[in-house]
Amino acid sequence: MTAEVLLSRLEKVRQTGRDTWVALCPAHDDTRPSLAIRGLSDGQVLLFCRSRDCAVEDIVAAVGLTMAVLFPDRPTSPYSRPQRHRWPPADLLRMAGRDARVVGIGALMMTSGDPLSEVDRQCILDAATRLIRTADEAG
Ligand SMILES: [Zn+2]
Repeated sequence: MTAEVLLSRLEKVRQTGRDTWVALCPAHDDTRPSLAIRGLSDGQVLLFCRSRDCAVEDIVAAVGLTMAVLFPDRPTSPYSRPQRHRWPPADLLRMAGRDARVVGIGALMMTSGDPLSEVDRQCILDAATRLIRTADEAG
């Protein structure tokens, strides 16, 4: 299973479901596990950096692997359409809920006059960007 190859190279790996894990994102200076990993039944692996939205290519390269680790070997047919896997709606809702909380707390801090640190400001901007992208994808 390809997820195991990747998981063996990540730090602070914690299983969160039958085929889901979180780990430190190796593509940025991660201190709290923000890399979401999901193994699919066909062997493909989905990655998502919830903190900085790091590029998947950068994540696999940071642990010395290539994109091939995310896709199982399988015969390809010129007649088969590429499958597009998406995150399950429940996972997307959980992530959007977390980002909405971050943006909401940021709004409360700004309206109460509390100064925002640079880290807080960046977290709020990242969360807002992900929420807008998610809303765009949802149509
Ligand atoms: Zn990252």
